[in-house]
Amino acid sequence: MHSLFISDLHLHESRPQTTRAFFHFLYTQAINAETLYILGDFFDAWIGDDDESELAQDIANGLKILNEQGITIYFMHGNRDFLLGNTYANKAGMTLIDDGIVIDLYGTPTLLMHGDSLCTGDIEYQKFRAMVRNPQWQQQILAQPLSARRALAAQMREKSQSMNSLKAEDILDVTPDEVISQMETANVTRLIHGHTHRPARHPLVINGKPAERIVLGDWHESGWCIKADQTGIELIDWKL
Ligand code: MN
Repeated sequence: MHSLFISDLHLHESRPQTTRAFFHFLYTQAINAETLYILGDFFDAWIGDDDESELAQDIANGLKILNEQGITIYFMHGNRDFLLGNTYANKAGMTLIDDGIVIDLYGTPTLLMHGDSLCTGDIEYQKFRAMVRNPQWQQQILAQPLSARRALAAQMREKSQSMNSLKAEDILDVTPDEVISQMETANVTRLIHGHTHRPARHPLVINGKPAERIVLGDWHESGWCIKADQTGIELIDWKL
């Protein structure tokens, strides 16, 4: 048995090749897994579960079929799809998990994050994050009509160059000290995250022990996943 991790697909109507690649991944790779972890920015934008786009419905149906085959699916919010709620998660057969959760991955305690909280160098962004992750702010936004939320999302995208780009150089990288501090606090020697679009395996030392930070890639030109089982862990990519 094995588990798979993906993040940063940025699914959107304008990138049908990524949607096709995801369905191919679902029915050729994920179907053989025990658990699928989706670590945020799965959708490029999300303004509420009541925005029933064809893309969102197709993806929910695909995930639901996988879940009905016995694969457990976990979903962590990213900075693009933080408004995805339990209504959609239920429809897709997914369970929402918190950013910063520690799982037992075949005997190795593993910290899972989207990754944006590690980019502490961007003070403006961290202020923005604190605002949009506040449940009261989210309730206020979700109480507005869909048309108003669409306008707000368009306005936010216009304001932020980095919101329009999937290029790694337009996204700030993690703060190394913050990585160490979070891993020490969680008492883990392994961290898996996405967000930065800089897929890599980084050896580290945490609390005097050898440790590793593994970063997932976005699905712009290649598909990326992490495969973990009893024997170890692999970062895998393939051309889209
Ligand atoms: Mn992100």
